[in-house]
Amino acid sequence: MLFTTEWLSTVFTRYTGSADESPIDEVVTDSRKKTNQALFIPITGEKFDGHDFLKQAFNNGAVAALWETGRDLPGFLPDDFPVYYVDDTLHALQRLAAVYREKVNPVVIGITGSNGKTTTKDLMSAILKPSFRTHYTKGNLNNHIGVPLTILSMPADSEVLVTEMGMNHFGEIEVLSRIAKPDYAIITNIGESHIEYLGSREGIATAKLEIMEGMKDNGWLILDGDEPLLRHLHNRNNVITCGFDTQNDVIIENVTLGQNRTQFSLSNGEPFSIPLLGRHHALNAALAATVAKRIGVAAETINKAFDSLEHAQMRFELRKGKHGASIINDAYNASPTSMKAAIEVVKQMEGFRRRLLVLGDILELGDQSESFHRSVTDSIAQPITAVFTLGEQAKVISEAVKDKNPNIISMHFTSKDSLLEVLGEYLSEDTLILFKASRMMQFEWFVEQLGNEA
Ligand code: ATP
Ligand code: MG
Repeated sequence: MLFTTEWLSTVFTRYTGSADESPIDEVVTDSRKKTNQALFIPITGEKFDGHDFLKQAFNNGAVAALWETGRDLPGFLPDDFPVYYVDDTLHALQRLAAVYREKVNPVVIGITGSNGKTTTKDLMSAILKPSFRTHYTKGNLNNHIGVPLTILSMPADSEVLVTEMGMNHFGEIEVLSRIAKPDYAIITNIGESHIEYLGSREGIATAKLEIMEGMKDNGWLILDGDEPLLRHLHNRNNVITCGFDTQNDVIIENVTLGQNRTQFSLSNGEPFSIPLLGRHHALNAALAATVAKRIGVAAETINKAFDSLEHAQMRFELRKGKHGASIINDAYNASPTSMKAAIEVVKQMEGFRRRLLVLGDILELGDQSESFHRSVTDSIAQPITAVFTLGEQAKVISEAVKDKNPNIISMHFTSKDSLLEVLGEYLSEDTLILFKASRMMQFEWFVEQLGNEA
């Protein structure tokens, strides 16, 4: 049980139906979800209005609902069905989450950043789960509805909450931070995602730093200390910087990349090993380990947890494909920063004679799209063998490589089929291929075509 309807009527003053104590096990905004003892919160969106779906929610198990004041209630509802009237159901969802967060009062870890939020959240929760009753964001539920729902799915006896916080616009992280009130706030990095709404990387940094707005008094900010736009926070009270530069509070050293793992050590020599590839993941792990250590988790426990990590699919998954070629499926999403990070990993991985990059469009870059795509070529150098691009915007990558580095085979394609055909000529045991593009490009198709060879 999360809470009772009796408690709800202390949060929302106007209600009809019975306010007797009956348990609420779940809070839902999606009326299609089969539930048990759920509170249904209808949200008014651009395409749909949740208020039109109360009957469906009721049939699927809702036992109470919030309702926008001034709207008529449908006639089918039993008289004793509790309905709480509010001015705005979205604000009410957010307020309920904020009040429930205070009621449960776990240690809250809020994670924002342009890239690496979900990875850091997965690392963080894997570390904390063995020691604490830990609740964490499922999947990628990181926006103005997802964060409240994450909080409102937290069991009442939770000791720790790890919540991912995403944004596209100014002001959004502030709202989320005021709801979740982090005791620890992590900023994984400043990239370029959503720059079309935020104007510049400086704008992105400002928007991420909104996470400080709702932080608990004496909360801690843990961040990517190598990022010039966050430099001004070095040596501030309650700020811990992590990174590869030696002026950071926590320094990441001795990074080595193995078959499917990255090894590194932190300032004081503690060695760590994570089942993820790339220096950027060492940073994510360092941020999570730093928070965990402050909460009192031992290094040994942290390492054991890293071992047990389950990683979401399509995020830098290395597997064997046709003719024994090694395939990296990073088709989940892309930004210029994450594309460059992935290419760095391909360059660093040992044991391959041929390293191919199959790159597609990165979306949502606004009018700076071309220069951001071009910037990816800064990372494309030996030992990369070939670059194949697909998509209108990715074209500039292969063209720029052709000019800058004629030793690298560089081709642009206009269809997935023709690209796949050429790719077929390169498949062998000593070939490594990276697939990376924005989600919309559906690059997982290539990975499916190239199959699994156990
Ligand atoms: P989203 O905004 O889609 O929720 P996210 O911030 O949750 O993204 P992840 O899903 O963890 O990020 O990773 C997305 C991509 O970013 C992956 O391709 C990964 O390789 C890359 N990445 C992860 N961490 C970093 C980092 N610290 N710096 C740069 N790139 C990173
Ligand atoms: Mg995410």
